[in-house]
Amino acid sequence: MSTLTFLGLDAGFGQKNNSAYIETNEDEGKKLTLIDCGFTVFEQVKAKFDFNSYDKIDIIITHLHNDHAGSLSQLILYLWFNYNKKVRILSKCRNLEKYLEITGTPADSYELQQSAENVEFIKTEHVKYLDAYGFKMTVAGKKIVYTGDTNTLEPFLLYLQGADEFYVDVSRYGGAHLKITDVSEKLKEIESTGTQVYLMHLDDKEFVQRYGTLPAEIEL
Ligand SMILES: [Zn+2]
Ligand SMILES: [Zn+2]
Repeated sequence: MSTLTFLGLDAGFGQKNNSAYIETNEDEGKKLTLIDCGFTVFEQVKAKFDFNSYDKIDIIITHLHNDHAGSLSQLILYLWFNYNKKVRILSKCRNLEKYLEITGTPADSYELQQSAENVEFIKTEHVKYLDAYGFKMTVAGKKIVYTGDTNTLEPFLLYLQGADEFYVDVSRYGGAHLKITDVSEKLKEIESTGTQVYLMHLDDKEFVQRYGTLPAEIEL
């Protein structure tokens, strides 16, 4: 069972944006960490979570494509006005502040950090129009590496040593994303070192899952 639970595993034009979460109990209280907040995510999290129950909410944003950040300002505003909660955004995206500003998100409704005690971003290549990042994260006693959207494995290989889980963006057709048939051998090799590989951001789920394991996904 994957440490992260997915709200969706679809590629950009699918029904449920690729997004994951984990709940943890820390010294400061109960924490929700959400990974990406695409345009389908707000409706899902609004239905699923009791936001009053969290002492802390972190949202990691890998890049600014709509299927990863399309309902971010909506969620920040919702938590700020309805729950009086200030979220922490973890991201290195160059235009994130600008993006939140032009969508009318008050600067005091969120806190923005480029890294956290347990999160370090890994710059990758995805499309030429946007800067994109994966990250490594230590959570629930696990070392996790997460690619975000990527067309290369290269920047992540360095971080995989000793990692428990590797979440990797793959697709049937390639292009802005890794093509599963190009990387499946390499992914098997990574698994043979003891890192569990989970495939995500799927343009053709049936096809892609022949090549590996999908993470846990919730039904909503
Ligand atoms: Zn995407
Ligand atoms: Zn993307």
